[in-house]
Amino acid sequence: MKVLVAVKRVVDYNVKIRVKSDGSGVDTSGVKMSMNPFDEIAVEEAVRLKESGAVTEVVAVSCGVAACQETLRTAMAIGADRGVLVQTDAELQPLAVAKLLKAVAEREGARLVILGKQAIDDDCNQTAQMLAALLGWPQATFASKVELADGGARVTREVDGGLETVAIKLPAVVSTDLRLNEPRYVTLPNIMKAKKKSLDVVSPADFGADVAPRLKTLKVVEPAKRGAGVKVADVAALVAALKNDAKVI
Ligand code: AMP
Repeated sequence: MKVLVAVKRVVDYNVKIRVKSDGSGVDTSGVKMSMNPFDEIAVEEAVRLKESGAVTEVVAVSCGVAACQETLRTAMAIGADRGVLVQTDAELQPLAVAKLLKAVAEREGARLVILGKQAIDDDCNQTAQMLAALLGWPQATFASKVELADGGARVTREVDGGLETVAIKLPAVVSTDLRLNEPRYVTLPNIMKAKKKSLDVVSPADFGADVAPRLKTLKVVEPAKRGAGVKVADVAALVAALKNDAKVI
């Protein structure tokens, strides 16, 4: 059984985001880029399923600029068998990515697609759901446990106030939550091995996919700066300040 894992190249989570001076977006020039953290969890899960014998091949897919090849190499260093880059310089919104992933899933004959629950740059949390809808496959989002058995999957999901376990038939789409696993440390020998794995480059046109944006970003602004704090002498002064100055109680 083949598993597809979607990996997005995003600004590294340690980087302090700078907004472009014209407010048109986030400044990514000279900024460290990495694999979206939820996608590392997705790759780790797929590799563990392969190690357990339930899966025969793990294919990592990224959509975007040529530099996404680095993200695919990281996925292969974690343990993915090969990579597919759907290369384009165009801005890709979740619907466009979902269309491309659908095309790759169908071409590869994948039985399971694992994505991150959300990309930390756009925070959309849409791609997995759109992909499941386009494919007409069941979906289990925000997975904290995935077990494959009897042609289906049992997926435990984190919901308000507890855990929900759902049974879905394959083929299916799963998106990962933080507690699903802890991705392994990528070792130097595995980075070297990953360089030799196959990486196929295709384009949206190969699939006849319309990836034109459907949403227009009007402006991007930085969060308001926090004002300086004040020190208060005692609890009574704190209560008075919260009541009279901050007016929150
Ligand atoms: P989003 O819906 O944008 O929050 O993204 C959710 C998940 O979809 C990500 O964690 C990735 O697994 C996948 N994804 C989004 N954009 C891309 C992309 N350009 N290439 C590959 N996977 C992506």
